[in-house]
Amino acid sequence: MRPALLNPLFAAVSSLPGVGPKTGKLFDRLLRDGEPARLVDLLFHLPHSGIDRSFRPRISEAPRDQIVTFEAVVVEHRPPKAHSKAPYRVLVEDDTGDVQLIFFLANHQWVERALPLGETRWISGKLELYDGHLQMVHPDRVLDAAALARLPPVEPVYGLTEGLYLRNVQKATEAALAKLPDLPEWLDDSVLALRKLPTFGQALGELHRPASIKALEPTTPARVRLALDELLASQLALAMMRAQFREQRGRPTIGDGRLADRIQTSLPFDLTGSQKEAIVEIRADLASDKRMLRLLQGDVGSGKTLVALLSMATAVEAGRQAAMMAPTEILARQHFERMLPMCEAVGIRIALLTGRDKTAERNRTLKALIAGEIDILVGTHAIFQEAVQFRDLAYAVVDEQHRFGVHQRLALGEKGESVDVLVMTATPIPRTLVLTYFGDMDVSTLREKPPGRQPIDTRAMQIERIDEVVAGLQRAITTGAQVYWVCPLVEENEDLDVAAATDRYDDLRRIFGEQNVGLVHGKMKGRDKDAAMEAFQHNETKVLVATTVIEVGVDVPNATIIVIEHAERFGLAQLHQLRGRVGRGSGKSTCLLLYKAPLGEVGKARIAIMRETEDGFRIAEEDLRLRGEGEILGTRQSGTPGFRLADLSVHAGLLPLARDTAQAVMREDPALESERGKALRTLLYLFEREEAVRLLRAG
Ligand code: ADP
Ligand code: MG
Repeated sequence: MRPALLNPLFAAVSSLPGVGPKTGKLFDRLLRDGEPARLVDLLFHLPHSGIDRSFRPRISEAPRDQIVTFEAVVVEHRPPKAHSKAPYRVLVEDDTGDVQLIFFLANHQWVERALPLGETRWISGKLELYDGHLQMVHPDRVLDAAALARLPPVEPVYGLTEGLYLRNVQKATEAALAKLPDLPEWLDDSVLALRKLPTFGQALGELHRPASIKALEPTTPARVRLALDELLASQLALAMMRAQFREQRGRPTIGDGRLADRIQTSLPFDLTGSQKEAIVEIRADLASDKRMLRLLQGDVGSGKTLVALLSMATAVEAGRQAAMMAPTEILARQHFERMLPMCEAVGIRIALLTGRDKTAERNRTLKALIAGEIDILVGTHAIFQEAVQFRDLAYAVVDEQHRFGVHQRLALGEKGESVDVLVMTATPIPRTLVLTYFGDMDVSTLREKPPGRQPIDTRAMQIERIDEVVAGLQRAITTGAQVYWVCPLVEENEDLDVAAATDRYDDLRRIFGEQNVGLVHGKMKGRDKDAAMEAFQHNETKVLVATTVIEVGVDVPNATIIVIEHAERFGLAQLHQLRGRVGRGSGKSTCLLLYKAPLGEVGKARIAIMRETEDGFRIAEEDLRLRGEGEILGTRQSGTPGFRLADLSVHAGLLPLARDTAQAVMREDPALESERGKALRTLLYLFEREEAVRLLRAG
């Protein structure tokens, strides 16, 4: 159980004073994709920048378009005439110059009270020059001397979502800080002293109440402290799971090749060298009496699914069962549909289990599973549920695609007696990061692509040329091509993104004909999404407008064109994954990156790399490098996937320390029973890596 000490941090943000149900929902959206947000989520939502109100120039010296705070006397009020839409203007001055303060739709009483004629006030905001006059539209702050004295030197600025204001986040964060319990220290004294690190609580305080703009940089002791904590939690959880895995003896699973060989000979192509190698490695693991924990890495289209099927067939030959879990419904279904004919041809009984099955159907599947009448079960995380019992699960394949949740997924290994686990990922991960995400796992890599793939012609164009693009598509479609049209998820507000995709869908339907265009986005009902995907898969629709939901692993070989709208808003890795949707068949494929000019340096570099290479490993390295260049990106692209506080482009140097610490703990106190061990348990719960603690008890 979670230590009671942490309970306040896992209380709902909506339970904070001043956060009502409506604002609470906005916090849920901002912090946890709509799940109830907790104080810990709020506190881990660090400010991305700060407003420095300590800059106090005289009016004549004040620069434009930057936050300034100046002292001035109120000399004149010019309220608008009744029923006029003109703004309320207030003239203020110091002995070097004057400024007009502009208030649109102003509450007159408020303006009169905030800026009494003849009084001195401190005014903070951005100055601009309009018609030769200095003006400030809606000052951020109008303060008297007493209020100025209470103003923090730097105001933290947070990522927001539509409808939520900076003040809301600032206030709620203050309230959350007040509830932060004193936590036991889990880091070594020597580490703390050497790096001059504050405590966990102090670190959060320093980041949310920055003393200067510099205090917000990712290399301050406070940021390092939090990044180290998160990396340590992750490394420790991985080490614990790895140890647990090693401890259990495996059961050798040895096939005789009668199924796998038949599948293999029925394929219209030869396996690539990498595929053969990976299969040999996996079969050796299955056959050994140690438990397998292996990562199968390979770019989209490198043929991982086939490796999974052929190795699952080995388990079936041994008279045992295999399971494959995909991150989404669409993918589970697609895996199932693609494996079904190959399985049927050789008599392997394969079934699909998702959260959307009807009860009767589901019960039938569950019964057949425990009776051993199903050999391979494919599904979503629904296969974790307790009701799902196998007769003899030997081997579990976890298709992570682009998620990084290996911690949780290993739970599938609990569904049988020392189950062998293969984690598949389509995100090429630079060597340095494999350890970070997956710990000390064995790795098979599919570096080669199946032969016969033509290079994808990648082009970049300004979005203004969209009409030409559409005309080109029209020609392509008449010759039988199918097209993905990707609209970006950019707004913090998913509704707006969906609206943008829907608008584009309407446009394209008008141009290409209603029946020819489909739409998928994250807010659609599962069945509608499937229907749209299927229509495209069966070549009923020619154009599929999508938000990034198609990023994950969808396979339509006939689709040879992908248009990515506002390509500049995507990260490099994401662009690469999207492009991987085409170039899957034998036809020549094209990727059109539509961007809005002007591009920043990083945006230019990304597009250049996309045009230069299709090698996912190279792209992953470049992506990491570009992230390190410190561009301020939207929250979706910043940081490191799977981590909330650590940003590996900055904090990768802490990894060895985190790993060594985790390993020392595993040697000295593997059950986490000492004082420090207990503190480390708290750490695991704090970062929600507690599955590892549960294993301690089970093991
Ligand atoms: P991944 O899962 O790595 O994205 P898939 O297993 O989905 O890749 O394979 C992509 C496509 O390539 C599929 O249509 C598959 O049938 C085909 N394929 C797989 N291996 C080979 C191979 N060795 N030669 C030719 N085509 C292959
Ligand atoms: Mg696949």
